[in-house]
Formats: sequence, structure tokens, C-alpha cells
Amino acid sequence: MTVPFLDAGAAYHELRTEIDAAVGRVLGSGRYLAGPEVEAFEAEFARFCGAAHCVTVGSGCDALELSLRALGIGPGDEVVVPSHTFIATWLAVSATGATPVPAEPDAATATLDPGRVEAAITPRTSAIVPVHLYGHPADLDPITRIARRHGIAVLEDAAQAHGARYRGNRIGSGANPAAFSFYPGKNLGAFGDGGAVTTDDAEFAARLKLLRNYGSATKYRHEVRATNSRLDELQATALRVKLRRLPAWNARRAAVARRYTEALAGVPGLELPAVAPWAEPAWHLFVVRSGDRDRVQAALRESGVETLIHYPVPPHRSPAYADHPHARTRFPVAEALAGEVLSLPIGPHLAPEQVRRVVEAVLGAFSPAVR
Ligand SMILES: *Cc1c(COP(=O)(O)O)cnc(C)c1O
Repeated sequence: MTVPFLDAGAAYHELRTEIDAAVGRVLGSGRYLAGPEVEAFEAEFARFCGAAHCVTVGSGCDALELSLRALGIGPGDEVVVPSHTFIATWLAVSATGATPVPAEPDAATATLDPGRVEAAITPRTSAIVPVHLYGHPADLDPITRIARRHGIAVLEDAAQAHGARYRGNRIGSGANPAAFSFYPGKNLGAFGDGGAVTTDDAEFAARLKLLRNYGSATKYRHEVRATNSRLDELQATALRVKLRRLPAWNARRAAVARRYTEALAGVPGLELPAVAPWAEPAWHLFVVRSGDRDRVQAALRESGVETLIHYPVPPHRSPAYADHPHARTRFPVAEALAGEVLSLPIGPHLAPEQVRRVVEAVLGAFSPAVR
């Protein structure tokens, strides 16, 4: 038996009848963009998150970039981002013409450390982008307090955190704008690209709607220079079906996480993911750490267990940012994480025997006999 890292088709097979019917309805309707399915999904996802508004866009990356633009961020601005994140967080800032300024994460949760945010703020800083990395909420309250004190915005990168809770409230519940991705591998994934922003702020939502639609609210009247970034009706109708399963699927992810945590606790040299007291994670990823990561990954591969590394190169070390002012600055927490993290398979469709196989393979990789 091999255990793939992700079986992206499993969700479709579980819901095949419902999804086929929904997709067939859209295909037959002749309405493929900006129609009733998108409108209904926006209302349903806003309700799911506990936000007043949801604005869908073409991808998670666009959700971040257009939110930053809607906040008025552009050339000359600085935006505080985590030094350890998927590079899309940084690229969205760069796409507006602003400069991403890294701050180190808390070593335990791998999310932005509020204690280190303040030092990254300058008179040019206009926003902070905490990332709910791996589905574990960042510590939003102190980050939001810092932002208020400086009169700057908070935009949450919630691409990995559909359904996660911070102090009991769902991520995206509206106090700050939150950017979601519906990339197929995310907890709520489309059959292609998609994204959304949730917010309680009606004016901000209206600006986003302009920015995703050629700067236009009324046909052929263009208020601002903008782009085309839309979720389509086919994706929206499929997402509506999947959204109804999301709480159950997240519960299944949490059950796998519990099983790994019980079975792998106390293995010398293996660090398990921490859960902060404020957090109810969405368990997008189950990320362990080891100083011997590459050997462990090879041993798991030998046992038929596929793992991934999220992420092997911190953004400031990527060729894309070779000319960044911090390209040569040391960010020891981010650099240590990049060398040590390893994501085990997790998902709602992982069978119990696959979970058992992963546990056995990890225990085997750390047993003295194979070292
Ligand atoms: C997936 C992801 C994005 C980008 O989403 P896309 O839909 O792929 O554009 C942004 N930030 C984080 C943390 C992500 O995991």
C-alpha cells in the first residue's frame, strides 16, 4: 500500500451525484459568469465564516492582491509579512508595487509572532498580513492592536484556514478582510482556481467588486483602472456542494491529527505541531519537524508514504527576491523551519489503514535500527 500525499479526486467521488447534477444545471443554463451560483456561494460562504460580505475572485493570490489594492496600498508602501509562508503572500504585496517586509514567526506555531511585528513597522508601513499557516490561526488580537495603534490595516491570508477558529470565531468572520483560496488542494477546493475575500465592511466589498470587474459597477462605465478576476458559475456551484461538507471534512482532518499526535508523541527527534490555546486549527497540513528531515522523508518514501515540504526555501532566499533589501538578512526562525518541516499526508479521505501506515512508517524512520 502506498499513501499519496493528497488524493484530490476523492472529494469528487464522494459527492459525484450532487456535483454532476449541479454542473449539468449550470452548463444547461447558458449562464457561466456573474450569475446566481456565484451570488449564492458568496452569501453561503459569508454566512459560514460569520462575515457580512464575501467577494469571490479568480484565485487566492488575486484575493490578496485586490484586497491590498482596495486598502489603497501601492508603490512606496511597506507591508509586514511573515518570513515563513507560501511565497504568494509576498508576491501579492509586490504585485501592488509595495514592498513586503518580513517579520519572524513564533517558532512553536509558525505564524507571525506579534512580539516581532512592531520592530518591522516603519513610517511607510500600511498593512500587516498575518498568515494562518497550515490552518493554524495566527494570534490576531495582539496583531490587530498593534495595527490600530499605528493606524494601519490587517489583511488575513486565510488561504489555508477555511473553518479554523480563533478564540471561538471562524477565520474570516469579518473584523479584518480575509483572503481565501479555493485551489484544489485547499480544505475547500474548486476544480480549478478560485478565491474570495470576506469582510464586514460594505465599502471595502464594493471596492473589491470594482477591482475584479474592470473597475466597473455599471456596464461600460469604468471608475478605476482594474483587472478581470472572477470565480465562474461552474466553480461556484461545485463549491456550494462542497461547502456543505466542509465542517464534517474538517472534523475528519482533526481526527487524523489527533491520531498522529497520540501515536507519535514522545518520539525523540520528532517535533509535533503545537496548537495554541486560542486556536482551533483547520488542519490543512500536519507539519512535523526534524533536524534529520531529509533522511526521514527518504525513509518514508521507501515505505510508500509521500510527504511534502511546506516550504523548502523562505521567500527572502528565493531568486524572485534576489534584489529585495532583506535578501541577505538572516531570518533564523524561517531558515530553521525551511530546513526542518515535513508535511505528513492528512485529509478527509485518508483511510484508517493509510493513517496507520503513516504512523508505522514514521515510527520506523525514527527507530534506532534504521539510523
Ligand atoms: C494557496 C495559498 C495562496 C494562494 O492561493 P492561490 O489560489 O493558489 O492563488 C496564498 N497564500 C497561502 C498561504 C496559500 O497557501
